[in-house]
Amino acid sequence: MSKPNPFEVAQQQLESCAKILNLEPGVHDFLRHPMREFHVSIPVHMDDGSIRIFQGYRVQYNDALGPCKGGIRFHPEETIDTIRALAAWMTWKTSLLGLPLGGGKGGVICNPKELSGGELERLSRGYMSQIWQWVGPGKDVPAPDVYTTPQIMAWMMDEYSKLSGENAFGCITGKPICVGGSCGRDDATARGGMYTLREASKVLGMNLKNATVAIQGFGNAGSHAARLGRDLFACKIVAVSDSQGGIYSDQGLDVNSLFSVKAKTGTVINYPNGRKISNEELLELNVDILIVSALENVITEENADRIKAKIILELANGPTTPKADEILFKNGVHVIPDFLCNAGGVTVSYFEMVQNITRFCWSIEEVYQRLDERMTQAYRSVLEASKNYGIDMRQAAYTVAVARVVEAMKLRGWV
Ligand code: NAD
Repeated sequence: MSKPNPFEVAQQQLESCAKILNLEPGVHDFLRHPMREFHVSIPVHMDDGSIRIFQGYRVQYNDALGPCKGGIRFHPEETIDTIRALAAWMTWKTSLLGLPLGGGKGGVICNPKELSGGELERLSRGYMSQIWQWVGPGKDVPAPDVYTTPQIMAWMMDEYSKLSGENAFGCITGKPICVGGSCGRDDATARGGMYTLREASKVLGMNLKNATVAIQGFGNAGSHAARLGRDLFACKIVAVSDSQGGIYSDQGLDVNSLFSVKAKTGTVINYPNGRKISNEELLELNVDILIVSALENVITEENADRIKAKIILELANGPTTPKADEILFKNGVHVIPDFLCNAGGVTVSYFEMVQNITRFCWSIEEVYQRLDERMTQAYRSVLEASKNYGIDMRQAAYTVAVARVVEAMKLRGWV
């Protein structure tokens, strides 16, 4: 079965919300599409002397609540529709968290694994030099996402600074700490998700100590989730996976060993004391908590009925299709939807912007405390809307987030 188009998924999700909120057709129509998008061609001098042209995008979905905010992906299968969907989800995410920001997203079609360090730097600078006039602290502030790193953010910040003629640390976030990064950014996405898990466990009366956890994806988001699940709540991590497959042990996996096996061999499947499983099997394990932290559209109408977890944490963007959502809701699975669950990253990115603008550095404790407050408050507002309207957590998150964007558009006189 072919995977659904993520932008169509995002539009379908908005449609259900528009019905609940009884949005006027014109307002709904405006929110169905990005306000602006930039398509750029980036010429890069390759190490072999040839010139290669890369295609890049930046989508500014909606900036009614403030400057756009959202990551940049470097991926060989990047598509404009994936970026549109991600930019829409960023709009709802910043709104839901009560941040004074809109939503955007960018991407370049490339395979960073095939580029040398010099080629990657020239591509990163080339992308920024093509879009710099439309981004910056008051307009749109990019950040890292799939296959982009703090080093790439540093190159892009430097390029923007050279072009604008000032040290513009606040033009991009996710930078290394010594060039304007924030403490706590590296594990912020997973940590934010863990704060929502703690709140959900109170609602469901689940004891997190020794609760069993399966994690799809062992990259930035998933690997920190494994470590924090163990350190903050003493959860038992029984399964993890990456693009090569998964590993399972009902005795629990040793998280430190997973990190060293991944570092030494490039994949978690070489973990010695476990059974190899497929990514599909991992999703259907009999566990208390399922964390999806890899790709879009992995929970579909095909497998949703077989999911046994009581709580799903969506650290990945768009992992669940709308039809799967209906099945999970019917089966009583408590889904913490992506733009709530993974909002810790953008929240600490926002803290980074605030520190850059005020030229002040916060302690790690201050970052954690402020993050906890924002995530807890957002989770509670979604839960309340879910109970009030009798709808699932994703629809509830949409109603809270979209209502705020609509209010801002009305107050600004746009609609
Ligand atoms: P990453 O590149 O660090 O890790 C991705 C992981 O997914 C890797 O372990 C990779 O091996 C695995 N993977 C790739 N293809 C797979 C497949 N077919 N099956 C199973 N696993 C596969 O990326 P990340 O930063 O951890 O992001 C993961 C997801 O979380 C993405 O959807 C991203 O948009 C979302 N997200 C990340 C952040 C963040 O701060 N890192 C913030 C918000 C949302």
